[in-house]
Amino acid sequence: MNSPKYKRVMLKLSGEALAGKKGHGFDFDVVDRIANEVKELVESNIEVTMVVGGGNIWRGRNGVGMERSTSDYMGMLATCINSLAMQDSLERMGVHTRVQTAIEMKEVAEPFIRRRAVRHLEKGRVVIFAAGSGNPYFSTDTAAALRAAETDAEVILLAKKVDGVYDSDPNINPSAKKFDKLTFKEVLEKDLKVMDATATSLCKENDIPIIVFALDEPGNILKAITGEVTGTLVTN
Ligand code: UDP
Repeated sequence: MNSPKYKRVMLKLSGEALAGKKGHGFDFDVVDRIANEVKELVESNIEVTMVVGGGNIWRGRNGVGMERSTSDYMGMLATCINSLAMQDSLERMGVHTRVQTAIEMKEVAEPFIRRRAVRHLEKGRVVIFAAGSGNPYFSTDTAAALRAAETDAEVILLAKKVDGVYDSDPNINPSAKKFDKLTFKEVLEKDLKVMDATATSLCKENDIPIIVFALDEPGNILKAITGEVTGTLVTN
C-alpha cells in the first residue's frame, strides 16, 4: 500500500449510502462496512471528519407544497439520525467519535465548536458533523465544504455510487466519458454534477481538492487517500 497523502480529511457520504440497495432507511451491514473502512483510516493515523447526508430519510425537496425551511429542517434532522447511526457503528468497533451538531440538541450530541472539533481530531477521535450547516436552502455538500475549510481538512473524499465524474450520466449513456482530473472552473462552467455550485465555489475559494470515487468497492476510502483509486480529482 502507498503511504497516505493526507493527514486530515473530510469524508462526505450521501444519506443514501447508508441505505445500501434498499434505497431508504438503513442497511446496517453497509453502515458497519463503511465504519470498518473509517477505522482503517484512523489506524493509519489519519484525522477523520465526516458529514453524512440525509437523503435516505428526507430531502428538503421531498416536501412538495410544504414551507421550504420546514422541509429543510426535517432534512437537517435526518442527517442527525444518520450521524448517530454512524457513530454507534464506529464506537462498537472501538473507534472514538464525537458528533457535533449545527442545531443545538445537547442531550444528544455536542454543539459545533470549531476549536473543540480540532482538539478531538488531534486526540484521534472521528468527528461527525451533523445537521448540515444549520441553515435551510443549503446542502450537506456545502456543509462538508464549510466544515472542511473550518477544520483545515486537506481534501474532501466524496463517496458516490459512480466511480467518478462523467461528461454525461453513465447509467443512461453507455459511452459517457469519465474524467480523471478536472478543475473547479471546468466543473462550474460545464455544470458537471459533482457537488452543487455553492459547495464547489467554497472548495475553489479555499483551495480544498475533492476526490470523487465509488463507495461500493470495499477498501476504496483508504485507496482514495493513497492515490490508488481511479476516481476523479478536482482541484484549482
Ligand atoms: N439541509 C439543509 N441545510 C444544510 C444541509 C442540509 O437545509 O446545511 C437539508 C436539505 O433539505 C437537504 C437535506 O437536509 O435536502 C438532506 O441533505 P442532502 O440532500 O444534502 O443529503 P444527501 O443527498 O447527501 O443524502
